[in-house]
Amino acid sequence: MSRSAHPAGPRYADVIPEGHYAAPPADLNVLDPKVWSRTVTRDASGGLTVGGIEVARLAEEFGTPAYFMDESDFRARCRAWREAFGTEADVFYAGKAFLSRAIVKWLYEEGLNLDVCSGGELTTALSAGMPAERIAFHGNNKSEEEIERAVEAGVGRIVLDSFQEIVRVAHIAQRLGKRQPVLIRVTVGVEAHTHEFIATAHEDQKFGIALAGGQAAEAVRRALKLDGLELLGIHSHIGSQIFDMAGFEVSARRVVQLLAEVRDEHGVELPEIDLGGGLGIAYTSEDDPREPHEIAKALSEIVTRECEAAKLRSPRISVEPGRAIVGPTAFTLYRVGTIKHLDGLRTYVSVDGGMSDNIRTALYDAEYSVALVSRTSTAEPMLSRVVGKHCESGDIVVKDAFLPADLAPGDLIAVPATGAYCRSMASNYNHALRPPVVAVKDGEARVIIRRETEEDLLRLDVG
Ligand SMILES: *Cc1c(COP(=O)(O)O)cnc(C)c1O
Repeated sequence: MSRSAHPAGPRYADVIPEGHYAAPPADLNVLDPKVWSRTVTRDASGGLTVGGIEVARLAEEFGTPAYFMDESDFRARCRAWREAFGTEADVFYAGKAFLSRAIVKWLYEEGLNLDVCSGGELTTALSAGMPAERIAFHGNNKSEEEIERAVEAGVGRIVLDSFQEIVRVAHIAQRLGKRQPVLIRVTVGVEAHTHEFIATAHEDQKFGIALAGGQAAEAVRRALKLDGLELLGIHSHIGSQIFDMAGFEVSARRVVQLLAEVRDEHGVELPEIDLGGGLGIAYTSEDDPREPHEIAKALSEIVTRECEAAKLRSPRISVEPGRAIVGPTAFTLYRVGTIKHLDGLRTYVSVDGGMSDNIRTALYDAEYSVALVSRTSTAEPMLSRVVGKHCESGDIVVKDAFLPADLAPGDLIAVPATGAYCRSMASNYNHALRPPVVAVKDGEARVIIRRETEEDLLRLDVG
């Protein structure tokens, strides 16, 4: 094979990657347990297995691209959160990260509660049998119809996001003859260490009511006066993919200060605070997430300390992890199509999916890992960019990663840690068919969301 006919990809020695990776890993065949779900391993032949099933078999049976979700890992993570927070705190899984009826059943069985933020998510939760009192309803612009359904169903809490919504929910509850438990979402002015587009606690943002300028105190004043509302407490969510607990520390302190002000002004000790979600996971080997028990310990120490200082009874705490539960439990399996070596630059590896099944790289500049999973290879590391098949040059799945230089069309590659915000944000761009989600456990694989078909696309097209 002549080099000009089949130019080899740039070797690490020839290029200095501009991206995240300083150097290729020592052995490309090693699957870092930090970024892969718990039951992932390589079998004797070198292929990846998950839940005891080889990916080659999964690809054959379910096709590619597809998301494979490690059910035992999902359940283990739910239990770790549940146990870490014990009986003094509540864990609400943030359904927006990924929701399906199977997920709702697993959450129910593992003792978690559920956050929803739309009528569609509420319907999914209720139809899979989640008791309404274990559901919290979020959103900055819930429609009257959504509020009505949530109140009628008897959701455990509605998180109020604006002055208008305080009145809206109170009126609807009163009309339905109910007293709706609510929290007020406040913005604490904490900037979590994360990407600008996904941090949600700046004052200049659409969510919540600012603590600054007495806005949140005024919201409490109004909510306490309304018969349709039972004010349980205060909610704060400071961002996403956070590793440093310092942001939570400041946010908890400010929320507790508000509880103290409320006690001083109204003689009422609000019984609950919700510190939101946003805990980070490992997308690459360089990320070091905290374990749920460390997070639980840190949060409860902060709240206890602040409450002692303010002479308040400690409120019941709740947290809302989404990504930290579901993110690490799934990978996306792709088949390699075209491989294009750009001399002296990098190699473009095109796969059969792309921004339609993972928009996070284009949207947030998110970082991901990737591995050849249908076999092992001893070939040299080749600096690669994994791209999709969409008509968009920003259609990148993994920006900078190393794959073996003998990678060939037909190989299977997998991108780990795609359980959160990938299928839930998937689109039909270019009339792509959204991939299935397949749950794998103890040697069995089961479709929980089926692959979309061209008939599905045509069914919506009624012109
Ligand atoms: C998005 C969101 C979460 C979950 O965020 P993760 O980063 O997935 O943990 C929790 N609470 C609220 C209010 C949210 O908007």
